[in-house]
Amino acid sequence: MHLFLPIGFDFWTGLIGWIVSLATVLGLALVLRHERRQARSLVERSKELERLSSELLRVNRMKSEFLANVSHELRTPLNAIVGFVDLLREGVYGELAPRQVKPVERIEASANHLRHLVDQVLDLAKMAAGRLEIHTETIDLRPFVLDVASEIESLVSEKGLSLSLVMGAALPRIRTDPTHLRQILVNLLGNAVKYTNEGGIVIRTRLVDSLPDSGTQSSDRAPYPTNPWIGIQVIDTGIGIRPADQSRIFDEFEQVDAGPRGNSAERGTGLGLAISRRLASLIGGMVELESEFGRGSTFTLWLPVDPNDLAATSK
Ligand code: ADP
Repeated sequence: MHLFLPIGFDFWTGLIGWIVSLATVLGLALVLRHERRQARSLVERSKELERLSSELLRVNRMKSEFLANVSHELRTPLNAIVGFVDLLREGVYGELAPRQVKPVERIEASANHLRHLVDQVLDLAKMAAGRLEIHTETIDLRPFVLDVASEIESLVSEKGLSLSLVMGAALPRIRTDPTHLRQILVNLLGNAVKYTNEGGIVIRTRLVDSLPDSGTQSSDRAPYPTNPWIGIQVIDTGIGIRPADQSRIFDEFEQVDAGPRGNSAERGTGLGLAISRRLASLIGGMVELESEFGRGSTFTLWLPVDPNDLAATSK
C-alpha cells in the first residue's frame, strides 16, 4: 500500500500560476495606490500654486496701487516747488543776489528731475495696475512725426547736431493712441539727443508686409499675426550700447552710465525705455534696438497696420 501520494505536475504549475497572479494583483494594487497618492499630491500642489500665484498678483496689484497713490500725492507739492522756484528765478520776489542764483538753479534742476521721476513712476505704476487708458484715434503718420520732430528741434540744434527725416511719400493712416505714441517717440528722440555728441539723428519710417527677423536682444516678440507693420526708427550716431547692455536697459532703473551725480539734467532716470517698451506693447507694437558701441544706435518702434488702411495714404 502506498502512503505517499505523489503531487502531480499540474498541481505545482497551478500553484505557481496562482502565486504569480496574486503577486501581479498585489503589485498592481500597490502601483495604483502610489499613482492615486501622487495624483492627490499633484492636485494639492497645483491648488497651492494657484493660491500662491493669485496672492502674488494681489500683492503686486497692491504695490502698484500704493506707488500710483504715493506718486500722485507727491506731484502736488512738487509742482508747487517747481512753480515757486520759477517765480524766484524770474525775480517776482525781488532780484536774486548773485550768490543765490546758482543754488536756486540747482533747486530748480533737482525739483524738475524729481517731478519727471515721479511722473514716470506714476506711469509705470498705472500700467502695472492696468489703469492706463488707451484712446485710439486714426492718425496721419507723416504730420504726426513731423510735429514730434519739431518738438526736439531746439534740443538738437543746441547740441550742434543735425536732424533729418526719411519718410516715404505715402504712409498709411494708423489707428493708435496718439498720446502714448508721442510719449514713446519723445523718449527715443530725447535719448538720441542726450547720448549723441557728434553727427546727428535721423527719423526714418519703414513699411513692411510682415515683421523682418528680429536678430536683436531687446525684442519681446509674441507670435504676432502677419500683417503690414510700420517701423518708426530713431537712428543716432551717438555713443552706442554694448551687446551686454542692450537687453537690460529696457528694465526699470537700468542705465549704462548714470552720468555725473551732481547734474540732475544729465542724470536721467533709467525709466524712459521701460515705459516706452510697455507703452508700445499696450498699443500693440514693440520697440527693438540695434546698436554698435561707439558708433550709434537705432531704436525701432514697430506698429501694426490694418491692411485696409494701406489704401488710405497720407501725402
Ligand atoms: P535714462 O535715459 O533716463 O537714463 P532710459 O530708460 O531712457 O533712461 O535709458 C536707459 C539707458 O539706456 C540710458 O541710461 C543709456 O545708458 C542707454 N541709452 C538709451 N538710449 C540710448 C541711445 N540712444 N544711445 C546710447 N545709449 C542709450
